[in-house]
Amino acid sequence: MSKGFERNERIQFSRQDCALDTLAVRAGQWRTDEGEHGDPIFTTSSFVFSSAREAAARFGGEEPGNIYSRFTNPTVRAFEQRIAAMEGGERAVATASGMAAILSLGLALLKCGDHVVCSRSVFGSTVSLFDKYFSRAGIQTSFVDPTDLSAWKTTIRPETRLLFLETPSNPLAELTDIAAVAEIAHVHNALLVVDNCFLTPALQRPLALGADVVMHSATKYLDGQGRCVGGVLVGRDKEMEEVFGFIRTGGSCMSPFNAWVFMKGLETLPLRMRAHSESALTLAHWLQQQPGIRKVYYSGLPDHPQHALACRQQQGFGGVLAFEVDGDRDAAWRFIDATEVVSITGNLGDVKTTITHPDTTTHGRMTAAEKAQAGIRDNLIRLSVGLESVKDLQDDLRRGLAAL
Ligand SMILES: *Cc1c(COP(=O)(O)O)cnc(C)c1O
Repeated sequence: MSKGFERNERIQFSRQDCALDTLAVRAGQWRTDEGEHGDPIFTTSSFVFSSAREAAARFGGEEPGNIYSRFTNPTVRAFEQRIAAMEGGERAVATASGMAAILSLGLALLKCGDHVVCSRSVFGSTVSLFDKYFSRAGIQTSFVDPTDLSAWKTTIRPETRLLFLETPSNPLAELTDIAAVAEIAHVHNALLVVDNCFLTPALQRPLALGADVVMHSATKYLDGQGRCVGGVLVGRDKEMEEVFGFIRTGGSCMSPFNAWVFMKGLETLPLRMRAHSESALTLAHWLQQQPGIRKVYYSGLPDHPQHALACRQQQGFGGVLAFEVDGDRDAAWRFIDATEVVSITGNLGDVKTTITHPDTTTHGRMTAAEKAQAGIRDNLIRLSVGLESVKDLQDDLRRGLAAL
């Protein structure tokens, strides 16, 4: 080796036949010849070459290897390989945020004149991105009721390239039959993209159900402790290579430090998702019994209109639930303000339980008509159930109920 350095030989974990819990802690893992057991963080913007000839070969694409962290970074790659293994995809591409994932996907795969069909019950910024910004580039989007398969079918046009959905939806837990919509997409040569933020691969694996691309806001459960903003796309080599090509030019890449945090998050993801689901189910049943609660929205409840679909396509029901209280906005705000343990914040997917009033926060930008159509009422409260003791959470929600 030149320049006084020995090249590190990487030893990589390569078994693909392991269960999800094993992939969560092992996939993507590799060691340098320092023999470290923990995963290293490569905080470097660029990489050095052993010679001018090697530099030329790397830049020219004749030899593989790192050049610059906007293109590739070993820590980011380790995170990508782990989430790809967990989602069952060929390749993952990490991005600066969940929104950067959707933006990069759209700019890599769509062009002027293309059409998108999107669930109307998706994350607010996702609606704005399609409706306001992609439309400026000549990409039109139609929004449909996510539960209505015939609407998905009849809204497709010859120029439809992409179908986009989120299931269960936020905050009302409306479900979309992923396998059925995938079939509709493929008949028309379109791709189905599923935002798997709410359930994660621990509880739902859209690629196995026929989706072409899975998208995550890693900010939520993948991190799981509310520390970093990030995103990721998982799919086939073909589409992911296109997205990677856009990201290395467009610069919507993930920082190595954040990738390391998300990798730590993935290690406990299956464990956390089981615990979040168990507590949320207990609370959903309990809330249904409480005077002052009008309605509870959670796909784990047997009286949820799509409970059978939830049992079929999900391996659990997740940590997010919503409920309507007796009264109006003031009652909902009194309930929220009376709690002492849970955090009043718009984020979700944290070990800390969070509470929010969608009508005036996460969904505040929607018009009254859009809210009415989507079923966002002023007495609705969303709870992202964390890992505190269920008894303490019940005591806290009782403070809210007493304030009604
Ligand atoms: C938060 C969120 C996003 C956006 O992700 P960011 O990391 O905040 O950019 C997209 N989809 C869903 C379902 C989300 O909850």
